[in-house]
Amino acid sequence: MKCPICHRPTTYEGNPYRPFCSERCKLIDFGAWANEEYAVPAEEAPPQPEDSPPGTTSPEEESDRV
Ligand SMILES: [Zn+2]
Repeated sequence: MKCPICHRPTTYEGNPYRPFCSERCKLIDFGAWANEEYAVPAEEAPPQPEDSPPGTTSPEEESDRV
């Protein structure tokens, strides 16, 4: 197989850095991935369910209690 970073032939078996050929390539890939993740702006924020946030009581309930 080929190293996805430097595209040099690398062995899969007995290779602790697979699928990379060396620790260097592994770190390069990891760094690129981390940078990509880090560079992604928080545009697509996960939807946060805000059905009943704490501290927001409906005024109707308040008036009902009086
Ligand atoms: Zn490599």
